[in-house]
Amino acid sequence: MEQSRFVSTDKLLVAGPCSAESLEQVLLTAKSLDCYSDMFFRAGLWKPRTMPSAFEGVGSKGLMWLREVKHRYGLKVCTEVASPNHVEQCLDAEMDALWIGARTTTNPFSVQDIADALSGVDIPVFVKNPLNPDVKLWIGAVERLYRSGCRNICAVHRGFSLADNGIYRNSPLWQVAIEFRRLMPQTKLICDPSHIAGRSELVFDISQTAMNLCFDGLMIEVHSDPGQAKTDARQQLSPLQLHELLSRLQLPLSDESQSAGELELLRGKIDQTDSEIVNLLAQRMEIVRQLSEVKHRNNMSVLQIDRWKDILQSRMQQADKLHLNSDFVKDIFEQIHRESVALQDKIAKSN
Ligand code: PEP
Ligand code: MN
Repeated sequence: MEQSRFVSTDKLLVAGPCSAESLEQVLLTAKSLDCYSDMFFRAGLWKPRTMPSAFEGVGSKGLMWLREVKHRYGLKVCTEVASPNHVEQCLDAEMDALWIGARTTTNPFSVQDIADALSGVDIPVFVKNPLNPDVKLWIGAVERLYRSGCRNICAVHRGFSLADNGIYRNSPLWQVAIEFRRLMPQTKLICDPSHIAGRSELVFDISQTAMNLCFDGLMIEVHSDPGQAKTDARQQLSPLQLHELLSRLQLPLSDESQSAGELELLRGKIDQTDSEIVNLLAQRMEIVRQLSEVKHRNNMSVLQIDRWKDILQSRMQQADKLHLNSDFVKDIFEQIHRESVALQDKIAKSN
């Protein structure tokens, strides 16, 4: 098996089953991962499920199984905590790290309870993003842990639950993770492609995007026999699939020194183009201001729906001709129109 460059870098790897199901399943999976000596072995014990009739995890007895993984294979072990009671049991059972699930991050009361239970204990904590794409809520959870004295915190991007997630189980909305990175540059950020994907076939592609965006590592669900998994069967990889994925991953460098001259030239052109875009936007708003006066003099409404339909259609057609993604151009014009309507509404009220 080709050894992956991933393991020889400082990228973090967290891998293991969605849920611990039996001692045998946990040990079998861990055995096939013990070549990744620096990784964290994950397995959920208390599973947050939508329906109460679903498998809710094996609970506390699985802590002993994770300890066995730690002692037998020398892997660091971690599980999900959702309450101070879980934290206390995990600390007693010598877990090496904990993670806070997406549903828990969504609730600041729960996060605060967990942060209080961790006060003075410097164990690594992984913090999944909240279910909704609210970067502040995610940052707030991380801040609560920092304030409790946790120093080793790693955020986990696992996608967001929207009305329409397209081909994904959870929409990646990479821009939210990028915004997290911009606002919290000192906090490690890894990606959980399994919960974004919902299907094992998509896990590689999402992992590669995460590497292209300089994420610090991956949390991937791996099961000794994915087809038989009691939770998230569709998205879990077999150990062999994980080995293949890691060996195929390209790891681009974040170092710019190699191509500094070329980059500088192109970035100069981008800066110039962006400056023209901003100038054009200012010009357009000035025209909207004049238009607004004309509409007011003629007692016309701010919104003329047919005109708006024409604008959108023609801009999207133009985008198509220029081989631009027409949905991208549609989004931009929706923003421009929103700003234009807001300005006209304000002028109409002040007249
Ligand atoms: C999990 O990691 O098994 C899990 C439940 O994840 P999330 O909180 O991201 O849904
Ligand atoms: Mn899962």
